[in-house]
Amino acid sequence: MSSVSGSPAFKALEGDDEVIIGLEVHCQLDTRTKLFCGCSTDYRDDGPNTHVCPICLGLPGSLPAVNRKAVEFALKVAKALNCRVLEESEFSRKNYFYPDLNKGFQISQYDKPLAVEGWLRIEGDNGEKTVRITRVHMEEDPGRLVHKGGADRPKYTLVDYNRAGIPLIEMVTEPDIRSPKEARRFLNKLRATLEYLGVFDSEKEGSLRVDANISIQPRGWFEAHGKGMEGRGRTEIKNISSYKGVEKALTFEITRQKNLIRRGQRLETATRHFVETRGVTTASRSKEMEQDYRYFPEPDLVPLRVSDWCERIVLPELPDARHNRFMEEYGCSYNHARTLTGDLRVAEFYEKVAAVDPRIAATWVADTLLGELNYRDMNIAKVSPSHFIELLQMLREDVITDKSAVEVLRVILDQLAEGCQCEAPSTCVARLNLAKTADDGLDAVIEEVTEEHPQAVEDFHNGRKEALNFLVGQVMRKTRGRVDPGDVNRRLREILSHGGT
Ligand code: ZN
Ligand code: MN
Repeated sequence: MSSVSGSPAFKALEGDDEVIIGLEVHCQLDTRTKLFCGCSTDYRDDGPNTHVCPICLGLPGSLPAVNRKAVEFALKVAKALNCRVLEESEFSRKNYFYPDLNKGFQISQYDKPLAVEGWLRIEGDNGEKTVRITRVHMEEDPGRLVHKGGADRPKYTLVDYNRAGIPLIEMVTEPDIRSPKEARRFLNKLRATLEYLGVFDSEKEGSLRVDANISIQPRGWFEAHGKGMEGRGRTEIKNISSYKGVEKALTFEITRQKNLIRRGQRLETATRHFVETRGVTTASRSKEMEQDYRYFPEPDLVPLRVSDWCERIVLPELPDARHNRFMEEYGCSYNHARTLTGDLRVAEFYEKVAAVDPRIAATWVADTLLGELNYRDMNIAKVSPSHFIELLQMLREDVITDKSAVEVLRVILDQLAEGCQCEAPSTCVARLNLAKTADDGLDAVIEEVTEEHPQAVEDFHNGRKEALNFLVGQVMRKTRGRVDPGDVNRRLREILSHGGT
């Protein structure tokens, strides 16, 4: 490709652009104690500055000691992400001033990270793809600033050091992601992987934070040159704290950058901030250059030599393996298996209820239950597997129709959502009189309907298919969904064709 500079050239290429995205993901490791001291990490329901000690407050003379469990967790992550663990890695001080950083530096890793050169397979926009992982390193979480008196113009700010020193794992990807949707899929896969490892709890508020780099380049440019085109700088969106937020922030940023490119403007590399409540990114302080951090090796900690240890670690079953097993063991379809294994809690729930009938269970968990939970913004942990088994049994034994089962499920979920104890599915079926109408009852309803709609019956005899659908609909209405539409269809045909005998 020829060299391009100045606005006219890059403007000419705008019709065929591609989006280049790289992510830096911070996850809290779910250890019991902090990274360098014995303070409990279970701070979320407690008052401010109650989980602190001289070490995590950074008082003079205090000495950090590395939490063995945190290193083990980090190694599990590195191994699951197919990384090479360095023979020797090292903690470094990252120096900067900010009120949430009481020591004036963050203990992080710099030129000798824990692990490098990994990858993660994801469902890409055009089939399965590999996202390369540049590096995985450990660092401590800073404290938390609490702004008081209005989000836009706080009157004053409080500092809570309970979070200071919580172990974080930072994972950096190569710029291999090509759309906000792929970014979301990457994060979902990463979350699932970390949860399968038992090192991360995505339900804990603030346990994930993402920085997203994004630029728009002429198609093929990035691959050919290994970097972006001049005048097409990238944006770094800092500190996005939700999975949905990442997709939203990136989508907003694509529109913003495209508009600037269309107007022929140059885009400088800049840091922006995502405002979750408004769904926009805004310009923020210019980012420190790397040299501003004055990185140097942490003198109070010895280097880590843990590559042997990593080799001895045995990983549990990970999402891809479980996906294959669900297809083989339970006969799940590819898509059902993917949905069911995409979240550890869902996978475990499915395995508890699958015995009733693996296929019925797969459909009802992956399609119906997850849809209803999503609609209510509810977690599957609230649903009792034994109740769900009862519902599946009633379906399998043909006690209720699919339609009634959905109704029962909705009633139960609504009860749970309101914080009530929910009733058992069988109780609900009895209370709402949802048990299937017996066949003789069905015949009576069909007779009623055909008498009420002679025109439709005549249309049916004249070969008009929609007349039958209409009659089925009428019967369904009269029975309030307690009959199976397939049964109604069959019986209606029989009665209309042979006079019902
Ligand atoms: Zn402490
Ligand atoms: Mn970091």
